[in-house]
Amino acid sequence: MKQNICYCGHHKKYEKCCYPFLSCKLKPETPEQLMRSRYSAFCIKDIEYLIATQHPSMRQHNERDVLTQIVQNTQWLGLKVLKTRDGKISHGFGFVEFIAFYKNIEIEQLHENSKFVYEDQQWYYLDGVILEPVKFSRNEQCWCGSNKKFKRCHGGNM
Ligand SMILES: [Zn+2]
Ligand SMILES: [Zn+2]
Repeated sequence: MKQNICYCGHHKKYEKCCYPFLSCKLKPETPEQLMRSRYSAFCIKDIEYLIATQHPSMRQHNERDVLTQIVQNTQWLGLKVLKTRDGKISHGFGFVEFIAFYKNIEIEQLHENSKFVYEDQQWYYLDGVILEPVKFSRNEQCWCGSNKKFKRCHGGNM
């Protein structure tokens, strides 16, 4: 991990960003915090956290196996949060649209609009809609946090 950047891409140390959530010291206050912490959990293969933060109604009987497969076979490269609708806790639902970048043979995108629900005094991941991959222009900042232009970083021949 790059120094002073959390797995989730925030310019903060992991210990001060997602770690308090993954270690259950704090509960995410917003869907975005939960989404980011779940992305970090995917990066460090914390399956228990992923299960604990998924709404109980959405857990499959083989959830642990499915998640184990995903975390073992996926190399996550970066996260870009595009849009959030945190919603008021009183409304119960929140949405986060994000792109998670991962390496298969090529670099691929998981572009998803995730839905979260607030219940029993905590946010849960409910489900998500998968969206089309996003095209980036060559001159915009790369999504990986390198501060380089996309064409000179992950958009070039790496
Ligand atoms: Zn983080
Ligand atoms: Zn990059």
